[in-house]
Amino acid sequence: MSVRVRFAPSPTGFVHIGSLRTALYNYLLARKHNGKYVLRIEDTDQTRLVEGAIENLLDSMEWAGIPHDEGVVMENGVITEKGEYGPYIQSNRLDIYHKHIKALLETGDAYHCFCSKERLDEVREKQRAAGQTAKYDGHCRELTKEEVQKNIEAGMPYVIRLKLPENTDIVFDDVIRGRVVVNTDEIDDQVLIKSDGFPTYHFAVVVDDHLMKITHVIRGEEWLPSTPKHVYLYQVLGWEAPKFVHLSNILNTDKKKLSKRHGDVAVEDFAKKGYLPEALVNFIALIGWSPEDAREIFSMEELISEFSLERVSRSGGVFDVNKLNWMNNHYIQKADIGRITKMAIPHLIKAGYITEKDAEERYEWLEDMVLAIRERLDYVSQIVDKVDIFFKDEIVPDEGEAMEILKLEHIPHLLDVLHEKISNAETIDIASIKKIFKEIQKEEGYKGPKLFKPIRVALTGSAQGPDLPLIMQIMGRENLLSRIEYTQKNLI
Ligand code: GLU
Repeated sequence: MSVRVRFAPSPTGFVHIGSLRTALYNYLLARKHNGKYVLRIEDTDQTRLVEGAIENLLDSMEWAGIPHDEGVVMENGVITEKGEYGPYIQSNRLDIYHKHIKALLETGDAYHCFCSKERLDEVREKQRAAGQTAKYDGHCRELTKEEVQKNIEAGMPYVIRLKLPENTDIVFDDVIRGRVVVNTDEIDDQVLIKSDGFPTYHFAVVVDDHLMKITHVIRGEEWLPSTPKHVYLYQVLGWEAPKFVHLSNILNTDKKKLSKRHGDVAVEDFAKKGYLPEALVNFIALIGWSPEDAREIFSMEELISEFSLERVSRSGGVFDVNKLNWMNNHYIQKADIGRITKMAIPHLIKAGYITEKDAEERYEWLEDMVLAIRERLDYVSQIVDKVDIFFKDEIVPDEGEAMEILKLEHIPHLLDVLHEKISNAETIDIASIKKIFKEIQKEEGYKGPKLFKPIRVALTGSAQGPDLPLIMQIMGRENLLSRIEYTQKNLI
């Protein structure tokens, strides 16, 4: 039997980093076994629909490079579907759910419930007051066919519930967590069809996973408590249940479930900041899954060949943003420079450093600048904080070391010499700058830190930074001279 897996998000408007990991693990398993990866939209909660959510979801998945084989897709800006097991949007499958609920009503495994919200609240309150777990009291379980018919004809609103047997163990094996046993006395008679005629998630998920021939349900651990109900539904529908794989939550550094309150959690937030998709994918793959050796950098191909459910951890993995930044920096340094420059340009325009026209006319210069700066970027939007040395006339020396260097006795003379040599140089490029340094060394006897650090501070205000000849080449003659003059006038 070939592997068929699915990612089944509810269109809430953004893709949480945890959902991205769920999608990724599904995708990896499918690719590894030459199976199929399905994307299904679970929109049965009509009160929580968000405009544009499906588009946003598909965009995030495309950005991340996690394509699906079947399901909801965008074609020329229009949401459509591909695959033979559709529709893949649950709200388009209502007749399918109705057919299967009818079967359950006929076998007596489901029943109409006419209890009002007020009655249900009252029951729950009484149970809580008596120290019991709040749960449906089964009031409508034994209504006769005639009573049900009469109520329906009278126009009474109703839901349809699953009729769980009393005091019966439901058993299933989770691939990661092992055997799970839950007694039906601890579970509610789950609503399967709501009063608006829509199925609940619990009913739709079982019907769809079966009809879409899903072999492995890989999802977040928050669904583990619901799984016994699903398993029971498979039983009464006479269907074989898929394998269940419940992934542990992604935690923040305080070991709490990662949520919006802790900063960025939406995939689009990371995209906007200038994280590379391959870095984010590599990083989240390792939260909860570990390879056989200690390697940390994995391409998608490597993840596909090495991923296995056996190495997915039971305990929650921590989202360590420092590690993500380290990894992203690694990928930024390895990436094609044109790609990083193109990512940087909108940020530079927004910061007012360049115009759209500059971006075209001075593109090569921009690329050189990005090349000089990129090793200092955790994510691309940080570039705006690192390039003021190329755009601002004013130099603001850093506190500490830079300030001390500006007080050195030989600085005024050094800057005079440098100014003259830069003015007289035929060209300003890395080679000519290195030549100037050598000459100063020989002629003036300033060496190592006595030479480079003062020049760096005089030009940038910082004692540390990217390769000096490289940034001097990027600054260019005019800018170099005016920066030296600025320091001569204002800082020493
Ligand atoms: N619609 C559910 C969610 O939003 C999917 C749960 C599942 O994969 O079964 O997380």
